[in-house]
Amino acid sequence: MRALAAYFYNICYNRCCVSAVFFSKILIMKRELSKHAKRAGEILAVLNKQYPDTKIALKYDNNIQLLVAVILSAQCTDKKVNEVTENLFKKYKTAKDFARANVTVFEQEIRSCGFYRAKTKNIIASCGIIDKQYNGKVPDSMKEILTLPGVARKTANVVLGNAYGIVEGIAVDTHVRRLAQRMGFVEQEDPVKIEQDLMAIFPKKDWFKLTYTLIDHGRAVCKAPTPKCEECPVAKLCPTGIKRLGLKTKF
Ligand code: SF4
Repeated sequence: MRALAAYFYNICYNRCCVSAVFFSKILIMKRELSKHAKRAGEILAVLNKQYPDTKIALKYDNNIQLLVAVILSAQCTDKKVNEVTENLFKKYKTAKDFARANVTVFEQEIRSCGFYRAKTKNIIASCGIIDKQYNGKVPDSMKEILTLPGVARKTANVVLGNAYGIVEGIAVDTHVRRLAQRMGFVEQEDPVKIEQDLMAIFPKKDWFKLTYTLIDHGRAVCKAPTPKCEECPVAKLCPTGIKRLGLKTKF
């Protein structure tokens, strides 16, 4: 009987310990998040003043062209994409136009954007689906748009936000990833995990503009490979800036 009691006591004790560790971990995570959230708000307030008119840099005349431009922008600068689409979008305007493109010709037309074979395949396939299944209109939900070839969460967030004002996440491109890491908000490399962390730190009302604000700051000051921390208005709030400039600030 005594052995049985001891057995149950041990089980309960171990379970309590596991629960205590679990809840204390959650508490620590919550505390970390709220610390990040406070600093994130301060950083964003400064950067919003610095880049008040921030917006997508890609040029397009309709939602199909927006989708195509975003697909072309993978591993390519927006400047180069705009150079290529200036002529491309005079020729291709609708989903049907892109779906009917000649593969060899289209590959050459977008060649300077890089990964031109895969991009051609994805654009023609996506526009074919949009033409047939969505009556020529870019789908307006995350679930549907993610089924298109070549469309992952970054593209989906950019297109849904700019085409329909639908904000279900944060578009994480190379600038957003670099700045989020340097600012100490994330450590990982996976864009989906970075997006989840940023969504937990920033309020939803800031998600859409955040991408373009960080991109502007990344192009102007927080450049790759070397940031210009000495010119940065948020250096005192950024662990990388504090370290590189030898500041005394703590947060
Ligand atoms: S302080 Fe430096 S690393 Fe931090 S955001 Fe500014 S430029 Fe980037």
